[in-house]
Amino acid sequence: MTKEYLIERNGKKYEVVIGLEVHAQVLSESKLFSTSPTKFGSEPNTQVSLVDAAFPGMLPVINEFCVKQAIKTGIGLNAKINKRSVFDRKNYFYADLPQGYQISQFKDPIVGEGKVILDMPDGQKEIGIERLHLEQDAGKSIHDLDPQNTFVDLNRSGVALMEIVSKPDLRSPDEVSAYIKKLRSIMRYLGTCDGNMQEGSLRADVNVSVRAKGSKEFGTRCEIKNVNSIKFMQMAIEYEANRQVDLIEEGKSIDQETRLFDTKKSETRSMRSKEDAHDYRYFPDPDLLPLKIEKNLIDKLKKELPELPDEKKERFIKEHKLSSYEANILVSEKEISDYYEEVIKKSDKKLATNWITVELFAVLNKKNLSISESPISAKNLSSLIKMISSGKISGKIAKQVFEK
Ligand code: ADP
Ligand code: MG
Repeated sequence: MTKEYLIERNGKKYEVVIGLEVHAQVLSESKLFSTSPTKFGSEPNTQVSLVDAAFPGMLPVINEFCVKQAIKTGIGLNAKINKRSVFDRKNYFYADLPQGYQISQFKDPIVGEGKVILDMPDGQKEIGIERLHLEQDAGKSIHDLDPQNTFVDLNRSGVALMEIVSKPDLRSPDEVSAYIKKLRSIMRYLGTCDGNMQEGSLRADVNVSVRAKGSKEFGTRCEIKNVNSIKFMQMAIEYEANRQVDLIEEGKSIDQETRLFDTKKSETRSMRSKEDAHDYRYFPDPDLLPLKIEKNLIDKLKKELPELPDEKKERFIKEHKLSSYEANILVSEKEISDYYEEVIKKSDKKLATNWITVELFAVLNKKNLSISESPISAKNLSSLIKMISSGKISGKIAKQVFEK
Protein backbone atom coordinates (compact mmCIF):
# COMPACT_ATOMS: atom_id res chain seq x y z
CA MET A 1 0.00 0.00 0.00
CA THR A 2 1.16 3.50 -0.71
CA LYS A 3 -0.17 6.75 0.64
CA GLU A 4 -3.75 7.42 -0.45
CA TYR A 5 -4.46 10.41 -2.62
CA LEU A 6 -8.09 11.37 -2.09
CA ILE A 7 -10.24 14.31 -3.09
CA GLU A 8 -12.77 15.37 -0.46
CA ARG A 9 -16.01 17.15 -1.26
CA ASN A 10 -19.03 17.67 1.01
CA GLY A 11 -17.76 15.03 3.41
CA LYS A 12 -17.32 12.47 0.63
CA LYS A 13 -14.03 10.95 -0.47
CA TYR A 14 -13.07 10.25 -4.09
CA GLU A 15 -10.25 8.14 -5.45
CA VAL A 16 -8.45 9.04 -8.69
CA VAL A 17 -7.69 6.36 -11.29
CA ILE A 18 -5.05 7.01 -13.95
CA GLY A 19 -3.71 5.07 -16.94
CA LEU A 20 -0.97 6.34 -19.24
CA GLU A 21 -0.22 5.88 -22.91
CA VAL A 22 3.44 6.87 -23.12
CA HIS A 23 5.03 7.65 -26.47
CA ALA A 24 8.74 7.00 -26.31
CA GLN A 25 10.93 7.80 -29.28
CA VAL A 26 13.13 4.84 -30.13
CA LEU A 27 16.80 5.73 -29.84
CA SER A 28 17.87 4.99 -33.41
CA GLU A 29 19.88 6.84 -36.04
CA SER A 30 17.35 6.09 -38.73
CA LYS A 31 13.58 5.96 -39.01
CA LEU A 32 11.23 2.97 -38.62
CA PHE A 33 10.69 2.29 -42.33
CA SER A 34 13.32 4.45 -44.08
CA THR A 35 17.01 5.28 -43.85
CA SER A 36 16.50 9.00 -43.10
CA PRO A 37 18.37 10.34 -40.07
CA THR A 38 16.51 11.29 -36.88
CA LYS A 39 18.75 14.01 -35.44
CA PHE A 40 16.86 16.51 -33.28
CA GLY A 41 16.85 20.21 -34.17
CA SER A 42 17.89 19.89 -37.80
CA GLU A 43 16.73 22.38 -40.45
CA PRO A 44 13.09 21.67 -41.39
CA ASN A 45 12.58 19.06 -44.12
CA THR A 46 16.25 18.06 -44.34
CA GLN A 47 15.67 14.53 -43.01
CA VAL A 48 12.94 13.42 -45.35
CA SER A 49 13.20 10.62 -47.86
CA LEU A 50 10.68 9.81 -50.57
CA VAL A 51 9.26 7.16 -48.23
CA ASP A 52 8.73 9.67 -45.40
CA ALA A 53 7.09 12.10 -47.81
CA ALA A 54 4.90 9.25 -49.10
CA PHE A 55 5.69 9.61 -52.77
CA PRO A 56 3.61 7.26 -54.90
CA GLY A 57 5.10 3.80 -55.25
CA MET A 58 7.45 4.08 -52.26
CA LEU A 59 7.49 1.04 -50.00
CA PRO A 60 8.35 0.81 -46.28
CA VAL A 61 11.20 -1.47 -45.21
CA ILE A 62 11.30 -2.36 -41.52
CA ASN A 63 14.34 -1.19 -39.55
CA GLU A 64 15.66 -4.26 -37.71
CA PHE A 65 17.45 -2.14 -35.12
CA CYS A 66 14.18 -0.47 -34.03
CA VAL A 67 12.56 -3.89 -33.66
CA LYS A 68 15.41 -5.00 -31.39
CA GLN A 69 15.05 -1.81 -29.36
CA ALA A 70 11.35 -2.57 -28.81
CA ILE A 71 12.11 -6.16 -27.78
CA LYS A 72 14.76 -4.98 -25.31
CA THR A 73 12.34 -2.47 -23.83
CA GLY A 74 9.73 -5.21 -23.54
CA ILE A 75 12.19 -7.39 -21.64
CA GLY A 76 13.03 -4.43 -19.39
CA LEU A 77 9.32 -4.09 -18.61
CA ASN A 78 9.15 -7.78 -17.61
CA ALA A 79 6.77 -8.25 -20.49
CA LYS A 80 5.81 -11.01 -22.88
CA ILE A 81 7.42 -10.63 -26.32
CA ASN A 82 4.98 -11.71 -29.01
CA LYS A 83 6.57 -14.00 -31.60
CA ARG A 84 4.16 -12.69 -34.23
CA SER A 85 2.94 -9.11 -34.52
CA VAL A 86 1.20 -7.14 -37.26
CA PHE A 87 1.56 -3.61 -38.62
CA ASP A 88 -1.75 -1.86 -39.29
CA ARG A 89 -2.73 1.31 -41.04
CA LYS A 90 -4.43 3.88 -38.83
CA ASN A 91 -6.23 6.10 -41.32
CA TYR A 92 -6.78 9.81 -40.86
CA PHE A 93 -6.27 12.96 -42.88
CA TYR A 94 -3.92 15.69 -41.77
CA ALA A 95 -1.43 17.90 -43.57
CA ASP A 96 1.51 16.61 -41.55
CA LEU A 97 0.64 12.98 -42.35
CA PRO A 98 1.46 12.66 -46.06
CA GLN A 99 0.59 8.95 -46.28
CA GLY A 100 -2.96 9.57 -45.10
CA TYR A 101 -2.39 6.87 -42.50
CA GLN A 102 0.02 6.11 -39.71
CA ILE A 103 1.65 2.69 -39.65
CA SER A 104 1.02 1.36 -36.15
CA GLN A 105 0.13 -1.90 -34.44
CA PHE A 106 -3.41 -2.51 -33.27
CA LYS A 107 -4.63 -6.01 -32.47
CA ASP A 108 -1.26 -7.75 -32.42
CA PRO A 109 1.43 -5.61 -30.80
CA ILE A 110 5.08 -6.66 -30.54
CA VAL A 111 5.00 -6.69 -26.71
CA GLY A 112 2.19 -7.90 -24.43
CA GLU A 113 1.57 -7.68 -20.68
CA GLY A 114 4.32 -6.70 -18.26
CA LYS A 115 4.93 -4.79 -15.05
CA VAL A 116 6.96 -2.01 -13.48
CA ILE A 117 7.78 -1.67 -9.78
CA LEU A 118 7.61 1.80 -8.21
CA ASP A 119 9.53 2.70 -5.07
CA MET A 120 7.28 5.11 -3.22
CA PRO A 121 8.33 6.74 0.08
CA ASP A 122 6.03 4.36 1.97
CA GLY A 123 6.65 1.16 0.06
CA GLN A 124 6.62 -0.52 -3.32
CA LYS A 125 3.80 -0.57 -5.81
CA GLU A 126 3.38 -2.64 -8.95
CA ILE A 127 1.97 -1.03 -12.11
CA GLY A 128 0.71 -3.31 -14.85
CA ILE A 129 1.74 -2.80 -18.48
CA GLU A 130 -0.99 -3.60 -20.98
CA ARG A 131 1.15 -3.60 -24.14
CA LEU A 132 3.94 -1.92 -26.10
CA HIS A 133 3.62 -1.38 -29.81
CA LEU A 134 5.75 0.18 -32.55
CA GLU A 135 4.44 3.02 -34.69
CA GLN A 136 5.63 5.94 -36.80
CA ASP A 137 5.55 9.55 -35.70
CA ALA A 138 3.85 12.18 -37.88
CA GLY A 139 5.38 15.42 -39.16
CA LYS A 140 4.83 18.76 -37.48
CA SER A 141 2.53 21.60 -38.52
CA ILE A 142 3.84 25.03 -37.63
CA HIS A 143 1.04 27.55 -37.21
CA ASP A 144 2.83 30.49 -35.61
CA LEU A 145 5.45 31.52 -38.17
CA ASP A 146 3.09 33.35 -40.48
CA PRO A 147 -0.37 34.91 -40.04
CA GLN A 148 -1.74 33.40 -43.26
CA ASN A 149 0.08 30.11 -43.73
CA THR A 150 0.77 26.90 -41.92
CA PHE A 151 4.11 25.23 -42.58
CA VAL A 152 4.85 21.55 -42.44
CA ASP A 153 8.12 20.01 -41.25
CA LEU A 154 8.42 16.33 -42.13
CA ASN A 155 11.67 15.65 -40.23
CA ARG A 156 9.79 13.65 -37.62
CA SER A 157 7.63 11.88 -40.18
CA GLY A 158 8.38 8.18 -39.91
CA VAL A 159 10.48 8.36 -36.74
CA ALA A 160 10.01 5.19 -34.65
CA LEU A 161 7.93 5.45 -31.49
CA MET A 162 7.12 2.88 -28.83
CA GLU A 163 3.68 3.36 -27.34
CA ILE A 164 3.67 1.90 -23.84
CA VAL A 165 0.16 1.51 -22.43
CA SER A 166 -0.25 1.06 -18.67
CA LYS A 167 -3.17 -0.60 -16.91
CA PRO A 168 -5.34 1.83 -14.94
CA ASP A 169 -3.25 1.10 -11.83
CA LEU A 170 -1.97 4.58 -10.99
CA ARG A 171 -3.71 6.41 -8.14
CA SER A 172 -2.02 9.79 -7.65
CA PRO A 173 0.07 12.49 -9.33
CA ASP A 174 3.06 11.29 -7.28
CA GLU A 175 2.70 7.75 -8.58
CA VAL A 176 2.51 9.11 -12.13
CA SER A 177 5.74 11.02 -11.55
CA ALA A 178 7.44 7.92 -10.13
CA TYR A 179 6.13 5.80 -13.01
CA ILE A 180 7.43 8.13 -15.73
CA LYS A 181 10.79 8.41 -13.98
CA LYS A 182 11.04 4.64 -13.65
CA LEU A 183 10.16 4.04 -17.32
CA ARG A 184 12.67 6.67 -18.35
CA SER A 185 15.34 5.19 -16.13
CA ILE A 186 14.78 1.65 -17.51
CA MET A 187 14.89 2.88 -21.12
CA ARG A 188 18.02 4.96 -20.51
CA TYR A 189 19.79 2.00 -18.90
CA LEU A 190 18.80 -0.05 -21.95
CA GLY A 191 19.75 2.70 -24.39
CA THR A 192 16.38 2.36 -26.14
CA CYS A 193 15.04 5.91 -25.59
CA ASP A 194 16.91 9.01 -24.41
CA GLY A 195 13.87 10.09 -22.37
CA ASN A 196 14.45 13.72 -23.23
CA MET A 197 11.09 15.37 -22.54
CA GLN A 198 12.14 18.86 -23.71
CA GLU A 199 12.86 17.42 -27.14
CA GLY A 200 9.63 15.46 -27.21
CA SER A 201 11.27 12.02 -26.95
CA LEU A 202 8.89 11.11 -24.13
CA ARG A 203 5.30 12.30 -23.90
CA ALA A 204 2.05 10.84 -22.67
CA ASP A 205 -1.70 10.74 -23.09
CA VAL A 206 -3.10 10.80 -19.56
CA ASN A 207 -6.39 8.98 -18.85
CA VAL A 208 -8.16 10.14 -15.69
CA SER A 209 -11.32 9.04 -13.91
CA VAL A 210 -12.64 9.33 -10.36
CA ARG A 211 -14.80 7.10 -8.18
CA ALA A 212 -16.18 7.13 -4.65
CA LYS A 213 -13.61 5.68 -2.26
CA GLY A 214 -14.35 2.00 -1.75
CA SER A 215 -16.20 1.64 -5.04
CA LYS A 216 -15.11 -1.34 -7.14
CA GLU A 217 -16.19 0.02 -10.51
CA PHE A 218 -14.24 2.51 -12.59
CA GLY A 219 -15.72 5.87 -13.47
CA THR A 220 -15.86 7.28 -17.01
CA ARG A 221 -12.43 8.44 -18.14
CA CYS A 222 -11.23 11.51 -19.97
CA GLU A 223 -8.05 11.35 -22.00
CA ILE A 224 -5.71 14.34 -21.85
CA LYS A 225 -3.62 14.31 -25.02
CA ASN A 226 0.09 14.71 -25.50
CA VAL A 227 1.43 16.08 -22.21
CA ASN A 228 5.19 16.59 -22.36
CA SER A 229 6.40 17.21 -18.82
CA ILE A 230 5.93 15.45 -15.51
CA LYS A 231 4.91 18.71 -13.83
CA PHE A 232 2.21 19.31 -16.46
CA MET A 233 0.97 15.71 -16.12
CA GLN A 234 0.55 16.22 -12.38
CA MET A 235 -1.17 19.59 -12.80
CA ALA A 236 -3.47 18.19 -15.49
CA ILE A 237 -4.48 15.22 -13.30
CA GLU A 238 -5.19 17.44 -10.30
CA TYR A 239 -7.30 19.84 -12.34
CA GLU A 240 -9.11 17.09 -14.22
CA ALA A 241 -9.89 14.95 -11.15
CA ASN A 242 -11.31 17.96 -9.31
CA ARG A 243 -13.38 18.94 -12.34
CA GLN A 244 -14.88 15.46 -12.50
CA VAL A 245 -15.62 15.39 -8.76
CA ASP A 246 -17.38 18.76 -9.06
CA LEU A 247 -19.56 17.43 -11.90
CA ILE A 248 -20.52 14.34 -9.92
CA GLU A 249 -21.31 16.42 -6.84
CA GLU A 250 -23.58 18.59 -9.00
CA GLY A 251 -25.42 15.43 -10.00
CA LYS A 252 -24.06 15.53 -13.54
CA SER A 253 -22.31 12.77 -15.42
CA ILE A 254 -18.84 12.68 -17.01
CA ASP A 255 -18.62 12.64 -20.81
CA GLN A 256 -15.96 10.34 -22.16
CA GLU A 257 -13.91 12.81 -24.17
CA THR A 258 -10.49 13.82 -25.35
CA ARG A 259 -9.13 16.94 -23.68
CA LEU A 260 -6.01 19.04 -23.88
CA PHE A 261 -4.02 20.68 -21.09
CA ASP A 262 -3.65 24.45 -21.43
CA THR A 263 -0.27 25.13 -19.84
CA LYS A 264 -0.90 28.89 -19.61
CA LYS A 265 -4.21 28.60 -17.75
CA SER A 266 -3.32 25.32 -15.99
CA GLU A 267 -6.63 23.75 -16.96
CA THR A 268 -7.91 20.99 -19.22
CA ARG A 269 -10.27 21.80 -22.10
CA SER A 270 -12.48 19.63 -24.28
CA MET A 271 -11.11 18.77 -27.75
CA ARG A 272 -13.67 16.26 -28.90
CA SER A 273 -16.34 14.06 -27.36
CA LYS A 274 -16.78 10.34 -27.85
CA GLU A 275 -19.40 11.00 -30.55
CA ASP A 276 -16.80 12.86 -32.63
CA ALA A 277 -14.22 10.14 -32.06
CA HIS A 278 -12.32 9.16 -35.18
CA ASP A 279 -13.00 5.88 -36.88
CA TYR A 280 -9.48 5.03 -37.93
CA ARG A 281 -10.48 2.02 -40.02
CA TYR A 282 -7.50 0.01 -38.93
CA PHE A 283 -6.44 -2.76 -41.27
CA PRO A 284 -3.21 -4.74 -41.75
CA ASP A 285 -0.75 -2.84 -43.94
CA PRO A 286 -0.50 -4.85 -47.18
CA ASP A 287 3.02 -3.45 -47.77
CA LEU A 288 4.40 -5.17 -44.68
CA LEU A 289 4.49 -8.83 -43.76
CA PRO A 290 3.62 -9.87 -40.21
CA LEU A 291 6.67 -9.50 -38.02
CA LYS A 292 8.01 -12.83 -36.83
CA ILE A 293 10.53 -12.96 -34.01
CA GLU A 294 12.60 -16.05 -33.33
CA LYS A 295 13.02 -17.27 -29.78
CA ASN A 296 16.80 -17.27 -30.39
CA LEU A 297 16.80 -13.54 -30.93
CA ILE A 298 14.83 -12.91 -27.72
CA ASP A 299 17.21 -15.15 -25.75
CA LYS A 300 20.24 -13.42 -27.26
CA LEU A 301 18.93 -9.94 -26.43
CA LYS A 302 18.06 -11.10 -22.91
CA LYS A 303 21.63 -12.27 -22.40
CA GLU A 304 23.08 -9.00 -23.66
CA LEU A 305 20.85 -6.87 -21.44
CA PRO A 306 22.72 -4.59 -19.03
CA GLU A 307 22.01 -4.66 -15.31
CA LEU A 308 18.74 -2.76 -14.84
CA PRO A 309 17.85 -0.37 -11.99
CA ASP A 310 15.92 -2.95 -9.89
CA GLU A 311 18.75 -5.52 -10.00
CA LYS A 312 21.37 -2.87 -9.40
CA LYS A 313 19.44 -1.64 -6.40
CA GLU A 314 19.34 -5.15 -4.89
CA ARG A 315 23.07 -5.52 -5.51
CA PHE A 316 23.90 -2.14 -3.99
CA ILE A 317 21.91 -2.98 -0.86
CA LYS A 318 23.70 -6.32 -0.48
CA GLU A 319 27.22 -5.42 -1.61
CA HIS A 320 27.51 -1.88 -0.31
CA LYS A 321 25.17 -2.11 2.71
CA LEU A 322 23.06 0.80 1.51
CA SER A 323 19.57 1.56 2.77
CA SER A 324 16.77 1.09 0.27
CA TYR A 325 16.40 4.88 0.17
CA GLU A 326 20.09 5.48 -0.61
CA ALA A 327 20.13 2.71 -3.21
CA ASN A 328 17.09 4.21 -4.94
CA ILE A 329 18.82 7.55 -5.31
CA LEU A 330 22.08 6.04 -6.53
CA VAL A 331 20.52 3.77 -9.17
CA SER A 332 17.92 6.26 -10.42
CA GLU A 333 20.24 7.20 -13.28
CA LYS A 334 22.89 4.97 -14.76
CA GLU A 335 25.46 7.80 -14.77
CA ILE A 336 24.95 8.32 -11.02
CA SER A 337 25.49 4.64 -10.26
CA ASP A 338 28.60 4.59 -12.47
CA TYR A 339 29.95 7.65 -10.67
CA TYR A 340 29.27 6.06 -7.28
CA GLU A 341 30.98 2.80 -8.24
CA GLU A 342 34.00 4.72 -9.49
CA VAL A 343 34.25 6.71 -6.24
CA ILE A 344 34.04 3.66 -3.95
CA LYS A 345 36.72 1.76 -5.86
CA LYS A 346 39.27 3.43 -3.62
CA SER A 347 37.32 5.07 -0.79
CA ASP A 348 34.97 4.42 2.10
CA LYS A 349 31.45 3.48 0.94
CA LYS A 350 29.53 5.15 3.74
CA LEU A 351 31.38 8.45 3.34
CA ALA A 352 31.08 8.25 -0.44
CA THR A 353 27.30 7.76 -0.23
CA ASN A 354 26.96 10.83 1.98
CA TRP A 355 29.26 13.01 -0.06
CA ILE A 356 27.51 12.15 -3.30
CA THR A 357 23.89 12.31 -2.17
CA VAL A 358 24.31 15.35 0.06
CA GLU A 359 27.25 17.60 -0.91
CA LEU A 360 27.62 16.79 -4.59
CA PHE A 361 23.89 16.73 -5.36
CA ALA A 362 23.42 20.09 -3.61
CA VAL A 363 26.03 21.66 -5.90
CA LEU A 364 24.70 19.98 -9.04
CA ASN A 365 21.14 21.07 -8.22
CA LYS A 366 22.22 24.60 -7.55
CA LYS A 367 24.15 24.82 -10.81
CA ASN A 368 21.49 22.81 -12.65
CA LEU A 369 24.03 20.27 -13.89
CA SER A 370 23.71 16.56 -14.51
CA ILE A 371 26.21 14.19 -12.92
CA SER A 372 28.08 13.77 -16.20
CA GLU A 373 28.68 17.53 -16.15
CA SER A 374 29.96 17.43 -12.57
CA PRO A 375 32.89 19.83 -12.05
CA ILE A 376 34.32 17.25 -9.65
CA SER A 377 35.38 13.98 -11.22
CA ALA A 378 34.71 10.69 -9.47
CA LYS A 379 38.47 10.15 -9.13
CA ASN A 380 39.00 13.49 -7.38
CA LEU A 381 36.08 12.99 -5.01
CA SER A 382 37.46 9.56 -4.24
CA SER A 383 40.90 11.02 -3.34
CA LEU A 384 39.29 13.67 -1.17
CA ILE A 385 37.30 11.05 0.77
CA LYS A 386 40.43 8.92 1.17
CA MET A 387 42.17 11.87 2.79
CA ILE A 388 39.32 12.21 5.27
CA SER A 389 39.26 8.55 6.26
CA SER A 390 43.04 8.38 6.62
CA GLY A 391 42.88 11.38 8.95
CA LYS A 392 45.00 13.57 6.68
CA ILE A 393 42.34 16.28 6.61
CA SER A 394 39.18 16.89 8.63
CA GLY A 395 35.67 16.79 7.20
CA LYS A 396 35.50 20.52 7.64
CA ILE A 397 38.61 21.15 5.59
CA ALA A 398 37.42 18.64 3.00
CA LYS A 399 34.31 20.77 2.55
CA GLN A 400 36.45 23.83 1.91
CA VAL A 401 38.50 21.93 -0.66
CA PHE A 402 35.28 20.62 -2.19
CA GLU A 403 33.87 24.15 -2.50
CA LYS A 404 37.01 25.33 -4.25
P1 ADP B 1 -7.70 4.30 -26.37
O1 ADP B 1 -7.06 3.99 -27.67
O2 ADP B 1 -9.19 4.37 -26.41
O3 ADP B 1 -7.10 5.46 -25.70
P2 ADP B 1 -6.14 2.34 -24.99
O4 ADP B 1 -6.52 0.95 -24.59
O5 ADP B 1 -5.04 2.53 -25.97
O6 ADP B 1 -7.48 3.01 -25.46
O7 ADP B 1 -5.73 3.14 -23.70
C1 ADP B 1 -6.55 3.23 -22.65
C2 ADP B 1 -5.78 3.82 -21.47
O8 ADP B 1 -6.72 4.30 -20.53
C3 ADP B 1 -4.95 2.78 -20.73
O9 ADP B 1 -3.74 3.37 -20.28
C4 ADP B 1 -5.83 2.41 -19.55
O10 ADP B 1 -5.09 2.04 -18.42
C5 ADP B 1 -6.55 3.71 -19.27
N1 ADP B 1 -7.88 3.54 -18.68
C6 ADP B 1 -8.84 2.67 -19.04
N2 ADP B 1 -9.94 2.82 -18.29
C7 ADP B 1 -9.68 3.84 -17.41
C8 ADP B 1 -10.43 4.48 -16.38
N3 ADP B 1 -11.68 4.15 -16.08
N4 ADP B 1 -9.82 5.48 -15.71
C9 ADP B 1 -8.58 5.86 -16.01
N5 ADP B 1 -7.82 5.30 -16.96
C10 ADP B 1 -8.37 4.29 -17.67
MG1 MG C 1 -5.72 6.67 -26.19
